[in-house]
Amino acid sequence: TSKFSVPVTLPNGKVYQQPTGLFINGDFVPSKLGKMVDVINPSTEEVITQIYKATEEDVDYAVQSAKTAFETTWSQANPEFRGKVLFNLADLIEQHADTLASIESMDNGKSLHCSRGDVDLVSKYLRSCGGWADKIYGKVIDTGKDYFAYSLRQPLGVCGQIIPWNFPLLMWSWKIGPALATGNTVVLKPAETTPLSALFASQLCKEAGIPDGVVNIVPGSGKTIGEHLCKHPDVKKIAFTGSTVTGRHIMKTAADTVKKVTLELGGKSPNIVFADADLDKAVKNIANGIFYNSGEVCCAGSRVYVQDAVYDEVLAKFKTFTEGLKVGNPFDADTFQGAQTSKKQLDKILKFIDIGTEEGARVVTGGERFGNKGYFVKPTIFADVKEDMSIVKDEIFGPIVTVSKFSTVDEVVDLANDSQYGLAAGIHTKDLNKAIEVSNRVKAGTVWINTYNDFHQNVPFGGFGQSGIGREMGEAALDNYTQVKSVRMSI
Ligand code: NAD
Repeated sequence: TSKFSVPVTLPNGKVYQQPTGLFINGDFVPSKLGKMVDVINPSTEEVITQIYKATEEDVDYAVQSAKTAFETTWSQANPEFRGKVLFNLADLIEQHADTLASIESMDNGKSLHCSRGDVDLVSKYLRSCGGWADKIYGKVIDTGKDYFAYSLRQPLGVCGQIIPWNFPLLMWSWKIGPALATGNTVVLKPAETTPLSALFASQLCKEAGIPDGVVNIVPGSGKTIGEHLCKHPDVKKIAFTGSTVTGRHIMKTAADTVKKVTLELGGKSPNIVFADADLDKAVKNIANGIFYNSGEVCCAGSRVYVQDAVYDEVLAKFKTFTEGLKVGNPFDADTFQGAQTSKKQLDKILKFIDIGTEEGARVVTGGERFGNKGYFVKPTIFADVKEDMSIVKDEIFGPIVTVSKFSTVDEVVDLANDSQYGLAAGIHTKDLNKAIEVSNRVKAGTVWINTYNDFHQNVPFGGFGQSGIGREMGEAALDNYTQVKSVRMSI
């Protein structure tokens, strides 16, 4: 038990020790200025605990620790050792899965079934990264008989990682997993509102045998310490997940020191239902596509397009299905949708509901806050929308979906692609040719056919267009964290 930790009672009555310090150089430490901030439970609006808030000076200490660890231990470590500690960490995540899922639901507001899914993917992904650690291959290149040439893939150094609040632990794993497997060290900044799971997992990093300084966690403000990380000359790469607006800003800030940058940004993903689809299954998928994780999903299927012949039928089924989803206490076993993560998000979503109504769209179901304690919103379907309405164009990041009608493949492909974003798309049809044609033509980094929001640790994920740069998960994630060195030798 660290001096910088406090007992916290989870909503299920269990008590655990929550670290409250910054995690730097293998220890929990207070912030240099000693300032603490409240962490709020969005389902109850009550304070869970207080944690230390890092300053620029703390970030400098974390970067220095990560730099030393990179140079003296981690980049020099045997790849099998790096793999082994990642396997250990995956095992520890599994052992603490119940606590981690509960922390996540308490801190973020998501339903426990969402948190359990997150934690499951976290351990699978870390194990997958452990498996890659000793398989970072270069190439042998034939450059003529008097020469021998080969390439190596070497780590970048200290990586700054900035993550959002919608999947706090999952994003932590998507960031640290491939960075560590390839020999980098990290300074990770969780989102202001959801720091608890990454801090809890820091002690598991230590227990797993990850050397001091390899993983550093600095909770705090994006505008101060996030910005500082992006400018820091000893940080060689920034990996960011969050809004497109902040992503653009980060890219500009990181340009001064020519850092490598990968971005996982926003989306406004189309989810298409053709008349020949299994309609009951499609309705389940379009509901899951938008309402999963309270709609706080970058790839949420927030624009639903239904072929005219089945439009009325699908809309009626979608309404009935949505009204059957239980909203409320994330810890109730049958809750599908928990709270939005903060008052700021609640207000943003309610404002979009007003805008949609003012723009002339029709609320089919929902359209208001749920209860008056906690940041809950009723799952909301808008119909009779026009494509230029802001509820069709802008990322809302909540349980709000628009439903539009189309008649032909060409028409729906044009509608789907009429967006600055390109993160994901869904296609529902029994016609294999149509599924393949539309998936080829749609501009999206991930296409789900007859499913949605379906992730696998070995399947790359990332965006076309303004949805981002780079890919996470699978072998593709390793490219984000290695640079190629060419060696050409005269013989
Ligand atoms: P944000 O993008 O501003 O925040 C994400 C992370 O970036 C946080 O850790 C934050 O502290 C940090 N950050 C903010 N400003 C920074 C800066 N100047 N330099 C470095 N880091 C900085 O998102 P938000 O304000 O929490 O949410 C606003 C909207 O963003 C949401 O309503 C939603 O539409 C979108 N969003 C998208 C995702 C996604 O996964 N695509 C995730 C969260 C939020």
